[in-house]
Amino acid sequence: MKNGSARSSTVVFSVTMALVLLLAFGVYASNRMLTHWLLVRNIEQTAALVPSAVVSAGLTDDFYSMLPESAPTGAGLRLKTETGAAEKSDKSIRIPDLQMSEKLLSFMSAALQPSHVVANRFVSLTDIEQGPRFADLLAAAFSKDTKGATYDIRRLGLQTALEQVELKTGPYADVELTWWGKLEAASFLIFPQRDTEGMVRGALVVLLDNTKRIESLSIITLISSGVIAALCLASFLFAAFLLWMRFHDQVKTNRDIEFLAHHDALTGLPNRAVFNARLNESLRLAHAKASNMGVMLIDVDKFKEINDTYGHATGDIFLQIIADRLRAVYSDHLVARLSGDEFAVMIQSVSDVARLTKLASDMLAATKHPCVIDGKEIKISLSIGIARASDGNWRSSRLLHCADLALYRAKHSGRSTFAWYTPEMDADALKRKEIEAGLVKALKFDQFELLFQPQYSLTDNQLKAYESLIRWEHPTKGSISPDIFIPVAEDSGLIEAIGDWVLTRACQEAAGWPDKNLRIAVNVSAAQFMAGETHKKVARALRESGLDPSRLEIEITESLLISNTDAVVETLNQIRDLGVSIAMDDFGTGYSSLSYLSRFPFDKIKIDRSFIHNLGKDAGTDAIVTSIIGLGRSLDVLITAEGVENQEQVTLLRAAGCNLVQGYLFGRPGSVEAHADFMARNDPRPAMAHTKAHGSATQAGEAEAKAQVEATDEDRNEQPQPSVSATG
Ligand code: C2E
Ligand code: CA
Ligand code: CA
Repeated sequence: MKNGSARSSTVVFSVTMALVLLLAFGVYASNRMLTHWLLVRNIEQTAALVPSAVVSAGLTDDFYSMLPESAPTGAGLRLKTETGAAEKSDKSIRIPDLQMSEKLLSFMSAALQPSHVVANRFVSLTDIEQGPRFADLLAAAFSKDTKGATYDIRRLGLQTALEQVELKTGPYADVELTWWGKLEAASFLIFPQRDTEGMVRGALVVLLDNTKRIESLSIITLISSGVIAALCLASFLFAAFLLWMRFHDQVKTNRDIEFLAHHDALTGLPNRAVFNARLNESLRLAHAKASNMGVMLIDVDKFKEINDTYGHATGDIFLQIIADRLRAVYSDHLVARLSGDEFAVMIQSVSDVARLTKLASDMLAATKHPCVIDGKEIKISLSIGIARASDGNWRSSRLLHCADLALYRAKHSGRSTFAWYTPEMDADALKRKEIEAGLVKALKFDQFELLFQPQYSLTDNQLKAYESLIRWEHPTKGSISPDIFIPVAEDSGLIEAIGDWVLTRACQEAAGWPDKNLRIAVNVSAAQFMAGETHKKVARALRESGLDPSRLEIEITESLLISNTDAVVETLNQIRDLGVSIAMDDFGTGYSSLSYLSRFPFDKIKIDRSFIHNLGKDAGTDAIVTSIIGLGRSLDVLITAEGVENQEQVTLLRAAGCNLVQGYLFGRPGSVEAHADFMARNDPRPAMAHTKAHGSATQAGEAEAKAQVEATDEDRNEQPQPSVSATG
């Protein structure tokens, strides 16, 4: 690169110098040509006035003195021998000695000022026709006439001048310019001499000294040369300026191209190629110095949703803001943008775990302030995966892979957090890969099974619905829990096909139940929910199974509403328009479950089993559950308690006014037939009645009263249910 630019500047310099020289030469040459032209014109213009002046001065006879004799006989001008012989011998040519009279000479000298006459001869056309030898002899004769002044008459081109005599109408001059531009002081001035018929019969050849005339012209030529030089210089400078602009633009374009090749155009951060190169280099260095270094992969959480919600222009600005914050926190380190919403930081100077952790925490802290774009406040959430090359044997690809595994962990532990790479993650990643491959086969070979878990009403103690829960019946590993494979299916996109299967299967199953009032709940995860699509899938499942829409309930979690895109809410409404009800699952586990209740009118809220698990053990939990139930009542939303495992929980839930219960106490997920068997042996309801009788204090009494109200409400919607034993 440096060599290249040195070479190109040498070329530019040489070309410029050559142009300057050419320019100077051009100015000089034009000056000389101009001077020559001016001098010739000048002499000729002066001479043009001479013949008429001669006539008015009464010197006609002197001026045309040669003519009478010149014609046929020409005194002493004729060749004495034959033409052929004459051409061979100069001695046979005689030079006429006819010169101007004293009177004419002084008149001419005055008329031709500031040039002055040095010598002159009248020559006849016949003389001239002798050719070069005559011209040479005439020149020699002139040399003698110059009386001491030396003029290089030979060079003055007398021959050429004489040859033109018949072509010219008036006097003409012949001025010599040497090849390097010097003007000869002397020149010939020729007055063609014509007879009365206008035929050229000869010429008066005058040798002039133009020294003074040249001097008088020099000021004009100097000025005009100056102007020419100035014009040339100006155009040269202008051309140079244009060239420079072009060159400058080219350099700038090259620099831009170079920058773009190594940087991301949107954020101006180095790109993946640069990051990889620098990482490789740093790892080599770390190896040599036996030092450590760290890498962080940073991913914007839910960036797709930001893009979908606010548009790509806002998404772009959002990424620029993220880049700025990264630059601010990692000002001493290399920050790069690897892809859409993924950034990477290489940390060389700091490599101990504590300080790297601090840097990650600082970055998360820097996202606390939401960004405001076009007046809209957008929350920033980042997940960070950290890996450290603890010795020099790390390869960049491995280090990045480890950071990526850590990032995966961070993403799956609730986002807006960071995670360190640990060796178990490799095994986990491998396991995920295995599960993913297995799921593809499971879909193909129909290895999924749906189990059903009952939901009972606390109002009338009757079975109201079943929640469908998927299992993967693996040919060698047995039944695999959805907690294990659903996240993998969500990551890999296989959830779409699995979800379709569940929906179809659940509707078919429920449609086949003899009790046409029993409802079926189906889980639809955020990853499988497709705005503008899911309602069509629901409609198709209902159509194909013939299930009454009012018997279907879709369970979604708040993660679906985090993005709060209008499209999602619209699709949820379209599902409801089909007559299907919508429940919010795992209520209370998210960050702002309450706020989502206002965004969509749910039919049911399912209190997460973690709350139910602590019910009666922790006053705080009791208060939360009571207030959720109260909230449901005021919003006119049914409340289901999940994970009910014992009678004490039932008592408390009933007292608080909970509508429905689901949990191991009422039956584990299984087949509908198995549930009938279970109830035949383990029906918890007689005991419930018992605990209810012992339900203490006014609170229980109040709850009971409220439960009565609920019961009448519910009864309005749902017909009294036959008992499970009756169903089974
Ligand atoms: P979920 O929707 O909250 O389902 C309830 C989970 O709680 C079920 O776990 C169920 O077996 C368990 N459970 C029920 N009663 C009790 C109890 O008394 N005590 C305890 N400790 N647990 C109880 P499961 O079947 O393993 O499902 C786990 C999660 O997998 C579900 O949580 C749901 O989020 C997801 N899932 C299950 N089936 C599907 C499906 O078909 N599609 C989708 N997208 N997700 C599903
Ligand atoms: Ca559920
Ligand atoms: Ca749940």
